[in-house]
Amino acid sequence: MWNLHQVLLFTVVTLNVIIKCVHVLEFCQKGESACQGPNVFPSPRMWTTSMLNLTHNLDHFRVSCEKFKGTFPLDHVRGNFIRTVKNCIFSQSSPTPLKGPLRLAAVSKDVLEGLLDLDIAVIGSDQFPQYVSGGKLFAGSEPLAHRYGGHQFGYWAGQLGDGRAHLLGHYTNRKGETWELQLKGSGKTPYSRSGDGRAVVRSSVREFLCSEAMYYLGVPTSRAASLVVSEEPVWRDRFYDGNVKMERGAVVLRLAKSWFRIGSLEVLSQSGELDLLRKLLNFVIAEHFPSIHSDQPDKYLAFYGTALNETAHLMAQWASLGFAHGVCNTDNFSLLSITLDYGPFGFMEAYDPDFVANASDEEGRYSVGAQAHAGLFNMEKLLQALGPLLSALQQEAAETVLKKFSGVYQSRLEQLFQAKLGLLGHSAQDQHLVHSLLQMMADTRADFTMTFRELSETSAENLRRGNLTQAWALQDLASHPRFSHWLHSYLLRLGRQTRDKDEDRQARMKSVNPRYVLRNWMAESAIRSAEKNDFSQVSLLHDILTQPFVTQAQAEQEGYAHKAPGWARGLKVSCSS
Ligand code: AMP
Ligand code: MG
Repeated sequence: MWNLHQVLLFTVVTLNVIIKCVHVLEFCQKGESACQGPNVFPSPRMWTTSMLNLTHNLDHFRVSCEKFKGTFPLDHVRGNFIRTVKNCIFSQSSPTPLKGPLRLAAVSKDVLEGLLDLDIAVIGSDQFPQYVSGGKLFAGSEPLAHRYGGHQFGYWAGQLGDGRAHLLGHYTNRKGETWELQLKGSGKTPYSRSGDGRAVVRSSVREFLCSEAMYYLGVPTSRAASLVVSEEPVWRDRFYDGNVKMERGAVVLRLAKSWFRIGSLEVLSQSGELDLLRKLLNFVIAEHFPSIHSDQPDKYLAFYGTALNETAHLMAQWASLGFAHGVCNTDNFSLLSITLDYGPFGFMEAYDPDFVANASDEEGRYSVGAQAHAGLFNMEKLLQALGPLLSALQQEAAETVLKKFSGVYQSRLEQLFQAKLGLLGHSAQDQHLVHSLLQMMADTRADFTMTFRELSETSAENLRRGNLTQAWALQDLASHPRFSHWLHSYLLRLGRQTRDKDEDRQARMKSVNPRYVLRNWMAESAIRSAEKNDFSQVSLLHDILTQPFVTQAQAEQEGYAHKAPGWARGLKVSCSS
């Protein structure tokens, strides 16, 4: 039986929920300027989370920029005009509000509630689209644009910086985690060079969906809280073929524990600003590498070793999912080894190490199979940036660390592929088993994601009998002349895992081999609807990709685990965004 206190609490919470639902629905009926896409509102199942302790009023949500402003000198010049900036890490820069009615195209409840302690009902406030697109600033926000440089496609590109992003500040949540909030597409800054400071709908939908999808795949990544679409005209030559078209501006509110990149250090090192280089590095270590002590004499070396190790692991994880980032320049590589700056990325379909996601990358520098090399190159550039802070001995030690990159990558990749095949322990032929499978996949162009998934979903008995009727990718693979031989070796290897039940093997494999990844055609289809202000597919994909390892009826209906539809042949994505 409930006591009076429990009854009262239940009544208050229920009323609270009902009032909020009504408020949200009323708001939706207000008309064009306030109307949001379908499926953005929390479904009843989403209301079960406790509403207690969450911030209900956006005006009470507070961020801070003190950590940055108190530590680093700021660019003393004000105004969003393009310039070369020296002797600072940030410039103060205000977002330029988007024009026209704003539509809230998508939100991540997990990010709002789980990372920002915001009650999901805040999305019903007519202020919300303003707050998350730069039209209104959260309390405490003093927006900053970060000065960084970078090596782009192998060459030093000089000053780059946040040309269309604004750091709003950081927020420490009730779990004690500190997240940095950044708007992307929020207007010009001193670093905009020839750009307009904007991001279009298609690239923003892709960033929103993929950063969240990667999180649920278990990959270290930035997160996305919301996506706002405007009526602001933005002109883009989507394929750099002279066909300039009007698109619309959009803004993603994204979060990371830190947005610092290799290029953040490079720009300081290249311009000889060594005191600032030391200051930034000390800050990054103190804030984000708790196992490294500030008075440790080899702390920069320890930082380098950790960054190298984690970057090698990240490259292996990308490879194990067939994910190609598309633009592995040093300005897009995080000092915390998280995936960031989603642009012309892609998940490969048919297995092909030469798969290039970015149509602008004509040489295939950043093909899926070349990413480890790009990671190594970027680690060389990180070492070059740290060079002025290292003694001769430390430099030598760091070079030895650098030489370990390929080994670290390789052994992590082997572990991941062993897990993808459900192999326990270690056997001498495991690598051969993996390599011959990949070779057959390359020869037959079998789908990378689904081959592994279907091996996970098919019982050993059905594999033995060649019963692959439900497995379209395995059917492609089975056309290979060496398939039966390979299958025989694989089943023998599984058979030697004497204490492993086949259901356990399947469950283990299903937990690492996703059934759904954000294939280009899926994103493109959602984008085409979003361009017409129908955000239901964005919302559906977002929802489905939060459980990429679980078979879901609606995803099956939509064909998300099937072969790409015919219309998707020849789809391309470029750097234009
Ligand atoms: P990305 O390829 O998006 O990583 O961008 C590379 C650099 O170009 C970064 O410094 C961006 O801030 C800048 N950039 C890209 N697009 C724009 C734009 N539309 N306006 C201003 N800067 C941009
Ligand atoms: Mg970038």
